[in-house]
Amino acid sequence: MNQTDIKLTEAPEGAAQAPVDYFTGVAWIKTLVPPNDQTDCVVSDVTFQPGARNSWHTHPNGQILVVTAGTGYYQEQGKAIQLLRVGDAVNIAPDVVHWHGAAADSPFVHIAINPNESKGGAVVWLQPVTDEEYYAYR
Ligand code: MN
Repeated sequence: MNQTDIKLTEAPEGAAQAPVDYFTGVAWIKTLVPPNDQTDCVVSDVTFQPGARNSWHTHPNGQILVVTAGTGYYQEQGKAIQLLRVGDAVNIAPDVVHWHGAAADSPFVHIAINPNESKGGAVVWLQPVTDEEYYAYR
C-alpha cells in the first residue's frame, strides 16, 4: 500500500472514528483482535489523516507499533520527535509518556499491539499534543 491507496474522505471498512476527546484531527480505528483470553493482546489498525495525532498517553503494559502506510511521528516525553516510515516498528515500554500520529503532509497507518490488556488496561490518556509540540519537528 502506498499513500495514494489510503482513502481519507471516509472511514476504512470496518473502522470507527477515533474518540475526539483523545485525538487532534481525524483518525479511524479498526479493531483487528478484540480483548481475548487466548493471547490477552488487543490489536488495532489506526489510520490518521495528515496532521492528525493522538494525545499524550501511556500504556500500563507497553505497546508495539508497526507502520503499514504513509509517514508519521512518534515522540516520548523529553525526547525529539522520531519520523516513522513503512516497515518501522516502535517498542514502547510500560508507563512511558508518548504520542503518535501522521506527519503534517502525509496520511499514516500503523498497527497497534497492546499486550496483557486485562492487567491494567490498554491506555491512560493525558493532555492533547499542542500545535507547538507537533510542529517542533520542522
Ligand atoms: Mn501509544
